Amino acid sequence: MTTENIDLPTPGSDEVLFVALGGLGEIGMNLALYGHDGAWVAVDMGVTFGDEDTPGVDVIVPDISVIDGLGDKLKGVIITHAHEDHIGGIPYLAGRFKCPVFCSPFAAAFLRRKLDDDGGRRSKRVKIVEIPSGGRRGVGPFDVELIPMPHSIPEAHLTALRSQKGLVVHTGDWKLDPDPVIGHPVDERRLANLGKEGVLALVCDSTNALREGWTGSEGELTSSLTEIVSSSDRRVLFACFSSNVARLRTIALAAQAAGREIGLVGRSLWRMHDVAGGLGYLKGLPTFLREDELGRLPPNKMVAICTGSQGEPRAALHRIVDGQHRHIEVDPADKVIFSSRDIPGNEKAIGRLQNRLVAMGVDVITDGTAKVHVSGHPARDELRHLYSLLKPARLLPAHGEGRHLDGQAKFALECGIPEAKVAFNGDVMCLAGGDFEQRGEVKVGRVGIDGDARVSLTGNGIKERRRMRLDGVALITIALEAQGELAADSMVTLAGLDVSDNAEILDDIEEAIDEAVEDLAIKARRDDAVVENVARSALRKALRKHTGKRPQINVHIVRI
Ligand SMILES: [Zn+2]
Ligand SMILES: [Zn+2]
Repeated sequence: MTTENIDLPTPGSDEVLFVALGGLGEIGMNLALYGHDGAWVAVDMGVTFGDEDTPGVDVIVPDISVIDGLGDKLKGVIITHAHEDHIGGIPYLAGRFKCPVFCSPFAAAFLRRKLDDDGGRRSKRVKIVEIPSGGRRGVGPFDVELIPMPHSIPEAHLTALRSQKGLVVHTGDWKLDPDPVIGHPVDERRLANLGKEGVLALVCDSTNALREGWTGSEGELTSSLTEIVSSSDRRVLFACFSSNVARLRTIALAAQAAGREIGLVGRSLWRMHDVAGGLGYLKGLPTFLREDELGRLPPNKMVAICTGSQGEPRAALHRIVDGQHRHIEVDPADKVIFSSRDIPGNEKAIGRLQNRLVAMGVDVITDGTAKVHVSGHPARDELRHLYSLLKPARLLPAHGEGRHLDGQAKFALECGIPEAKVAFNGDVMCLAGGDFEQRGEVKVGRVGIDGDARVSLTGNGIKERRRMRLDGVALITIALEAQGELAADSMVTLAGLDVSDNAEILDDIEEAIDEAVEDLAIKARRDDAVVENVARSALRKALRKHTGKRPQINVHIVRI
């Protein structure tokens, strides 16, 4: 979705404006801007991940040209919590904004660690200002309060933004978990006090807005995971997101209850372990063993938590299945538990990995077959309960695909919230101090991180890669003498096609190209573009006989 680049309006002191550069109409890449009294603040700056449509691009960030245009009118980037879809964009976009990043100690420690992993190159460009979890401080035109909410990572916050016009609330990611395993249950009195103060508008998590009931408590998982571990006399491997610190705790407790040692396999798990452990969030747990220590234990004495729940080829679980891991292996009758949800777009990769495990005789357990995962986001009963505490005058659904946003807006109206409106990335909305309506539109888009480069996801490079993946590549080399005679037989190399090394077919194609070139008048052969064209169509025609594919064709013409 790209629109004309129209600068953000200058917000008055009697209004609060809102626009998202990511996160509305998608789950991921969250970035919201709140404007008041001539200035703006950003809430979150996340990434989303590439899929089969973006070959070579693993990470995608929002297009922030609108922020470039704000200059020093952007007063701060406030981070709600340390999940990649909320904080992951900072290392890539650092240097594009001058204001500090405001966040709680956990997110700050995680961010510093990520920035340092880049050799400290980027860390110099980001000023981090800590606000204690539960604390309050001025950021530009707003008085910002970070109120802890249960989620799946320590220090997730609902952000209260107070202005001269009044109070608006941005929930971030949350659930109402009575036993969140990490952090505390929600402080209902504190939220009810916001309600008494008067919430002009609520921008709220929509991930599970189509689900009835309560999401379920992380604490309830401990017993079912313990049962699964206890019922095995072989290796037990869990695959889960490294960012799900609550789950690391739950699995460690289950392993302990089943009388087994626990260990971590994968770099991002160790990074999260160090950050969480450093701030005391792994207190009361057994020590997590290193990969080599874990590998030396008898199978019935170990539980491993591995990266790779989404079938990522470079992650630990994939390498273990490939037999490429130095310390950990998997054998028939071992258990592998996928303790996470399938992120849309990853279903095929996950399915392939699970099928390979099943073929090896491994017992694969997923969210569909046993109680091994609960979501970190609120279902309808939780949304209704939060509405009743905050009593917002207006609701704007966030953190969801279109159907989730629409679902929450309708549900909020049913629950008696006076006004609820769906907006998408780029829509400038008046949240308070005027009618609840769209005031304009700004440029939004997605930018792929391709190695060290930034690439447009609609540009030629990605299109060509997609084509190469789907249809293969053909390279034609034609050597011509100065007069235009063929200096040698043409050469064709095919890659990514079923017939790539079939010498007979290659001969056939090469002959067809030579004939087509020789059919050209001598004068025409002096024009590279003409030679290239006939060579291409000769290759296409010859290939059509053997395979229905239309590969990406590159023609090299050498003049001798
Ligand atoms: Zn999120
Ligand atoms: Zn989150």
